Amino acid sequence: MYEQYPYCAKCSKYYNSRHKCDSNPIYILKPTKHIVDRLYSLGFDVAQTTHGLSKTPPTNEAHFARIEIIFGFVYSELLLQELPEGWCWEDNTLQSMLVYTAEIEYNTPHFNLKEKKCNQGIKLLEAYLDAINDEGLKAAMLLLNN
Ligand SMILES: [Zn+2]
Repeated sequence: MYEQYPYCAKCSKYYNSRHKCDSNPIYILKPTKHIVDRLYSLGFDVAQTTHGLSKTPPTNEAHFARIEIIFGFVYSELLLQELPEGWCWEDNTLQSMLVYTAEIEYNTPHFNLKEKKCNQGIKLLEAYLDAINDEGLKAAMLLLNN
């Protein structure tokens, strides 16, 4: 699940050489497709999605599952408030990100637990985004990002 694939957000299709449109491909993790589609329909410019590198180095006790939804712009955090558990905004001067982190106990016997945690986080954000009122968000975007 941690591989990125070229994707056309405009057409909601994975890119291949036969894909002809005026939109450039972005690179996304397949499990985040619904999130990318939903954010696009709400008017967000998604640049890529990645599993990212944890900013917290692994310790003997824990390591972290991490998913990043990286935007092409800096967005006001007020647009998406009260994010689901594990999700938060991070940004630099050029880009905002929605970031999911979940701690995983180091000695966990389940080698696929990181993927399971990431999938849980993705499901939470999907449900959150699906519940958003489109018109309300688009109005807020006009107000906050001009
Ligand atoms: Zn396209």
